[in-house]
Amino acid sequence: MQEGPGFVLLYVLIVLVVIGFIAGGVILTRRRGGVVAPEHPEAPPEEPREEPPPSRPEAEAPVAEAPPRPAPPPVVAAPPVERPPAEPPTPVVEALPVEAPAAPRPLRERLGRARSSFGQALVRVFKRGGLTEEDWEDVEAVLLQADVGVVATTRIIADLRARSRDAAPETLLDVLRAELLQILGDADRSLRNADAGLTIWLVTGVNGTGKTTTIGKLALREGREGRKVILAAADTFRAAADTQLERWAERSGAEVVKQAPGADPAAVAFDGVKAASARSADLLIVDTAGRLHTKKNLMEELSKIRRVIEREAGPPTEVLLVLDATTGQNGIAQARAFTEAADVTGVVLTKLDGTAKGGIVIAVQQELGIPVKLVGVGEGGEDLEPFDPAAFVDALIG
Ligand code: GDP
Repeated sequence: MQEGPGFVLLYVLIVLVVIGFIAGGVILTRRRGGVVAPEHPEAPPEEPREEPPPSRPEAEAPVAEAPPRPAPPPVVAAPPVERPPAEPPTPVVEALPVEAPAAPRPLRERLGRARSSFGQALVRVFKRGGLTEEDWEDVEAVLLQADVGVVATTRIIADLRARSRDAAPETLLDVLRAELLQILGDADRSLRNADAGLTIWLVTGVNGTGKTTTIGKLALREGREGRKVILAAADTFRAAADTQLERWAERSGAEVVKQAPGADPAAVAFDGVKAASARSADLLIVDTAGRLHTKKNLMEELSKIRRVIEREAGPPTEVLLVLDATTGQNGIAQARAFTEAADVTGVVLTKLDGTAKGGIVIAVQQELGIPVKLVGVGEGGEDLEPFDPAAFVDALIG
């Protein structure tokens, strides 16, 4: 074999190529070792890209050897940002009313519509001065519309006219105030209690007038006074009257005596007296049904209840008649029927907060001679007021 300069040149070339390969391999190895990443520092590693940038050199091919990238999440599938609730969740409202006594509101405010209608209309007429025949008719109409009743209205108008001859018109309101107070009189309006032993309050009235509610309010009031109260659910006619009574009893700490619906009311009253005596209760309040359309039955039912109570514990200490002020003059007719059936000793006038006819108080006193002892001015436990004539008249005519 012959060796010439051509061969030497060939060897040199081969050596150079080998050296070139080695040098290239070293560079490639260095680049694989992490020098690539800095070439794209701005790319967040966790954000997968759909395609490598077109400018990526072939040398970066090893990136493709990395584990397969997850498919980019669709925009809509992005998990929603969890925000804290904008408002606190609505608190669950307790079904039972609050037990603590509410701050008392003045009677003027609680009389609501009764006051605004009656007083303001009269003030408008009296302010005109020099009252004409027509003005007097207006005054009469206001009184009648407010359910003062014909008897009391006639008396009031006659008195006002006589006084108006020598009294200034602006003093007529005072004359009216004095007149109303005189009609209401100074009867004893406190609820009576037995001198010794058990006090029994028998509560009567047409259904829907507010008997059960009034009993509940009374139980609450007396319970707060520290008295041991028993309620006899002798309204066995109206469905759920006993459960209504039980709800009130829960609030007042009273106990309820009841029987199955439709039971003899006198039997429930009897049980009530027995339970009250056995437990040394201070007060027994007896609820009754009031079906006025069966007046004969009503009379018999009430007389029987009365008889049973009387036989077991003496006459009821109070027989309260509950009248709904919104029924107006109809209430007077109801009161007459009940007075015949049971010796009513006092009236509770309910719903005075929702009527423009507060004058019914005057009519009850004038035509029946039974003192209004309590007034209901709302559905809440505190919405029962002792009837105070002066405060009432002031509230009525302002
Ligand atoms: P009862 O059938 O005679 O026992 O009558 P309830 O006690 O069931 O009362 C009938 C309705 O009158 C109920 O919705 C009571 O909340 C409501 N009520 C009772 N007293 C008053 C009151 O003084 N004012 C108002 N606004 N509502 C009352």
